[in-house]
Amino acid sequence: MNNTCVDLNKNKMAKPKKKKSKRQKLIKEIDDTRRDYIRKRDNDGDYTKCISCGAYCITTSLQVGHYYSRSHDFTTTLGSDERNVNLQCSPCNGVKHGNPRGYALGIIRKYGNRAIEELGDKKNQQKYWKIKDLEENLEMWKTLLDKIS
Ligand SMILES: [Zn+2]
Repeated sequence: MNNTCVDLNKNKMAKPKKKKSKRQKLIKEIDDTRRDYIRKRDNDGDYTKCISCGAYCITTSLQVGHYYSRSHDFTTTLGSDERNVNLQCSPCNGVKHGNPRGYALGIIRKYGNRAIEELGDKKNQQKYWKIKDLEENLEMWKTLLDKIS
């Protein structure tokens, strides 16, 4: 009888990490650059207003929240519209699921009456983002970030 112990975790641990595709890497870099840009763009000093509920919160506690969820970013033409992404308090971004009604009012206050309709139109425009499109999008966020830094 063989008494050797079988390590059930061994196979799990040995599993190699799935390599990220070029596409996934680009989207991650876009996310990071856009987040840095939005943090600077919306920063109002030590305290900044949440786009959805209007509460003044410690700026560093705010999150970068999407009006239309990030799943639409690179399946539609929304991915290049900075109005879809704004600083938001964590309760609005979390338990209130984006607080969409407040978010819509916040967008209208910030960008004007037509912004919601225009964002909706973009959300309905399907787009396949090629690698080249993603690279251009990343450049766009980098340029915006450079200008504001
Ligand atoms: Zn809020």
